[in-house]
Amino acid sequence: MSFLLRCPNCGERSVADFRFGGETNVRPAPDASHAQWVDYYYFRKNVSGPRQEWWYHKFGCRRWFLAVRDSRTNEVPQTYWPEDRTGRGGDGASQG
Ligand SMILES: [Zn+2]
Repeated sequence: MSFLLRCPNCGERSVADFRFGGETNVRPAPDASHAQWVDYYYFRKNVSGPRQEWWYHKFGCRRWFLAVRDSRTNEVPQTYWPEDRTGRGGDGASQG
């Protein structure tokens, strides 16, 4: 299986240049139920379709980034740095 991934730093490269880092999970709130934490730590959704994953540019800039990959087609419509990801909570955001 071969497809192209676009490193946010280096541009498009063969997937062989990268190391797969796993599907990302949204961390539950601190007061989430035990069941939610168990789900977070032990279960992966294995979504069929677009999902967010960690990738490491092993033979390039050696940086971790996030990619949205469609697990059915291996199309990667989006790649971005973790700090650029949208939908993060406001914790620790500077005020004013
Ligand atoms: Zn790179």
